[in-house]
Amino acid sequence: MARIVQKFGGSSVANAERIFRVAKIITDAYAKGNEMCVVLSAQGDTTDDLIAKAEEINPNASKREMDMLLACGEQMSIALMAMAIEKLGYPVVSLCGWQVGMNTSSTHSFARIKKVACERVKEELDKKRIVLVAGFQGVDKYGDVTTLGRGGSDTTAVAMAIALQADLCQIFTDVDGVYTCDPRVVPEAKKLPEITYNEMLELASLGAQVLNNRSVELAKSYGVQLEVLSSFSGNPGTIVKEVVKNVEKTYIAGVAQDKKIARIALAAMPDVPGVAYKVFSLLAKEKINVDMILQSYGHDECKDIVFTVADKDAARCEEVLNANRDSLKFDHIDINTDVAKVSVVGAGMQGNPGVAAKMFEALYAAHINIHMISTSEIKLSVLIDKEDSERAMRAVHAQFFQ
Ligand code: ADP
Ligand code: ASP
Ligand code: MG
Repeated sequence: MARIVQKFGGSSVANAERIFRVAKIITDAYAKGNEMCVVLSAQGDTTDDLIAKAEEINPNASKREMDMLLACGEQMSIALMAMAIEKLGYPVVSLCGWQVGMNTSSTHSFARIKKVACERVKEELDKKRIVLVAGFQGVDKYGDVTTLGRGGSDTTAVAMAIALQADLCQIFTDVDGVYTCDPRVVPEAKKLPEITYNEMLELASLGAQVLNNRSVELAKSYGVQLEVLSSFSGNPGTIVKEVVKNVEKTYIAGVAQDKKIARIALAAMPDVPGVAYKVFSLLAKEKINVDMILQSYGHDECKDIVFTVADKDAARCEEVLNANRDSLKFDHIDINTDVAKVSVVGAGMQGNPGVAAKMFEALYAAHINIHMISTSEIKLSVLIDKEDSERAMRAVHAQFFQ
């Protein structure tokens, strides 16, 4: 007997037929004598539909009320799945975040898990019930409903696996595992049998939404092995863990794109000490995360500072900078949301100096212009025009993997 945590994403439970398919996966594992705790996401596009509904009523709704609304999607899924499992004749109970003691911070829409007090889940498992847990949602110290950020059900699953000391944490989705690139954009992408936490963390943070980056962070901290697999195919998936075999001796694990970013340029700022400090401390106060940063070579006692932020933060960023124009003394500000970031990730990059040249060669051959470049030990990213993003992914992927 094993204690298993499974998580099923939105597309896996999108309609009645898929709910019964998943119910069968869950009950088959239960029938083998395993204890089953199952985390579910909202069905299909439910979360996006709820956001659209909110926008019809009040585009500036408070984050607290948005959380109240968005948490409904996951509650629907667990109730419907419980009904399907009841119909198959198995004992089951569905529980919301507050019922499983998913205690979080009060940062609505992006809450952090503080503690999972999972006594109720353990009691239900002891009663031999299949326990269904609403993903994505938690409760703060005031008893208010919170959510963990988009894609947060993955994090719920890992947190449950840690709290329950589960033997296995399986993330079921709509592709066979983690690929060298999004298989919907690059059909030639190869499924990876294994990937390290560090590489997965980079890929997830750089736009590969197959796993939420916080879930990988959490899994790495507690050494929880994750298996990413399909709820449709029954094929073996990808194992995310500390050390992998790397039989093929590849030094790049994958290619990712992020289209949800904006480039902000502050033109003609004074070329004196303290300018970067002023700009980025203002943004830090607003909790705006800055990613790539470029400062131009000074000329005529002036310099430009260019950086990227998440596109959702671009308007606020512009507001804050403009409000401080007198002290920052820039000539003008330029915001471009028609950009994308394409990255290659691989732990083996460190020992292979040719990676950057190889990536740039592929982009050059595809006539794609690079606006910005950033590197770290295991990743290399370029900022390009958004319309070139898919083409860049295919070109870069072909360069490294064919
Ligand atoms: P779920 O609803 O199950 O959480 P997501 O849509 O969040 O599923 O994540 C699965 C999707 O991630 C896939 O359909 C695929 O298009 C996309 N994806 C992006 N990059 C990758 C990658 N490197 N490997 C696998 N899938 C990827
Ligand atoms: N339903 C939420 C979302 O769409 C959480 C999740 O699917 O993981 O982001
Ligand atoms: Mg997801």
